[in-house]
Amino acid sequence: MTGQRVVVIGAGVGGLTAAALLAKSGFDVTVLEAHVYPGGCAGTFFHKGYRFDAGATCAGGFQAGGPHHIVGELLNLTWPIRKADPSWVVHLPDRTITAWGNEPRRQEEHARHLPELRRFWPIQTNAANVAWEFAARLPEWPPRSLGDVARLIPKLRPNMLPFAPLALMSIGQVLDGIGVRRTNHPTARTFIDAQLLISAQTTAEHANALYGSIAIDLPRAGTYHVRGGIGNLARTLADSLTAHGGRIIYRHTVTRLRRLDDGTFNVDTNKGQTFHADIVLANLTPWGLANILGEQTPSGLQRELRQRGSTWGAFTLYLGVPNDALPTHADHFQIVQRYDQPLGEGNSVFMSISEPDDRLRAPEGFRTVTLSTHTRIETWWELRQHDPDGYQARIEQYRDRLLDAAERIAPNLRQRAALIVPGTPPAFQRFTRRPGGMVGGFAMTSLLTARSPHTGIPNLWMVGDSIFPGQSTAGVTAGALRVAAEVQRSAGQTAHVARRSASARKAEFAP
Ligand SMILES: Cc1cc2nc3c(=O)[nH]c(=O)nc-3n(C[C@H](O)[C@H](O)[C@H](O)COP(=O)(O)OP(=O)(O)OC[C@H]3O[C@@H](n4cnc5c(N)ncnc54)[C@H](O)[C@@H]3O)c2cc1C
Repeated sequence: MTGQRVVVIGAGVGGLTAAALLAKSGFDVTVLEAHVYPGGCAGTFFHKGYRFDAGATCAGGFQAGGPHHIVGELLNLTWPIRKADPSWVVHLPDRTITAWGNEPRRQEEHARHLPELRRFWPIQTNAANVAWEFAARLPEWPPRSLGDVARLIPKLRPNMLPFAPLALMSIGQVLDGIGVRRTNHPTARTFIDAQLLISAQTTAEHANALYGSIAIDLPRAGTYHVRGGIGNLARTLADSLTAHGGRIIYRHTVTRLRRLDDGTFNVDTNKGQTFHADIVLANLTPWGLANILGEQTPSGLQRELRQRGSTWGAFTLYLGVPNDALPTHADHFQIVQRYDQPLGEGNSVFMSISEPDDRLRAPEGFRTVTLSTHTRIETWWELRQHDPDGYQARIEQYRDRLLDAAERIAPNLRQRAALIVPGTPPAFQRFTRRPGGMVGGFAMTSLLTARSPHTGIPNLWMVGDSIFPGQSTAGVTAGALRVAAEVQRSAGQTAHVARRSASARKAEFAP
């Protein structure tokens, strides 16, 4: 049945992907976005002549069979992207390893710098091939009903069987099994940990091996620059939404979501408006959803919030830097300062530089630089509430840590930068509306406990990086494909996403 009213709360990549897919298949879709532009953590903001990527800077999942590619086909989109090679360069304390997309170059690089991992790569690559192929069939994971199980079974293949044990193992166990332990091979373990932290929100010891195989595979699968900033992914989706009859309303923060006796919803905004909906998609974290549900928060969601600890936040720096102060051999770098300290909190820093010829990003002769590190949110909030001077001092301390790391790539960055703007967890809360400034979703430690999009309230779904498969523009796109298919199915449609999912055509992944 088409014409059903769908309200999507939030114009992040997850929300917009689901919104555009549903608008194309005939739903009456309205997206309510608190901010003045779309994209959330993958948005691009304008400041003093620069367009800075707020969070995400490096996009994957556009290869054939990848989530963005599938959505591009379904919506007939042309993404504003260009392939990056190398994907990034990893600077460890004592060596530098380039993450080439090009197969022979990557293999040669690994063989030269990380010979201890030679037995790991074949296991990893074969697992990733199987995992990508499975993901391209849009599996109903985690299954929550007999219907999900019935749809899931035909998507399993015999070639997955040898990799089944990995579904229950961590990457760390795989590495331990081939003798690559932290005690005897700290360099190799740190190299793997650093990549997992940015793409699975946890390190090898805890990251699920099958999920982690996709995370580690990113350079091989391909990463991409987005022209004009990563926010142009969200803008492309917003254009598709409106072209298919949907609408996006900015500056409207949803303050209350009420389920009515007939099972429909009223969605109230800070502008005093109420939108009526048959179906609601919340592009929110579980904390954000509970905030607007108030006393209607289902007991399961309340329990979840009591049980879950806080997730990572981010500390970021946004810089405007003259071209001649920056390297040209790569645009993304991961810098680890010490082997004997945990990653995050400035000991691992991701650095992204806008493309030299992307004139949309910076004034003539300049480029934007984004630096980010994982950080625990609690201390930031304590200091902000009780010790404003301590809060400022902590900003300075983290600023120095990030700049120290970045100056390994671009010496004199401090002196040469025309502009340095910090971003803390409280700033992320303010600009992305994510409670606590918790970003990046949940650590992918177990496939069995992965969060489903179900909320405990019929016709209210979650999208975004809190649901499986979690963080990244590609991850939230995969989650949105599943939710769009389920919404279509429950509305009695078989068209569009649901049909693609059902036909589960042979994956075309060809890195
Ligand atoms: C520092 C950092 C670096 C990252 N690097 C990468 C990277 O390089 N590559 C990558 O792929 N991913 C990266 N990520 C992760 C990626 O950005 C996110 O996983 C993804 O963008 C989250 O999308 P989402 O759909 O969950 O929505 P979000 O980005 O959370 O957006 C939600 C939207 O909803 C709006 N909203 C929230 N509450 C309300 C409300 N009550 N009413 C109305 N609107 C509301 C917000 O304003 C926001 O626009 C990074 C993240 C961070 C923070």
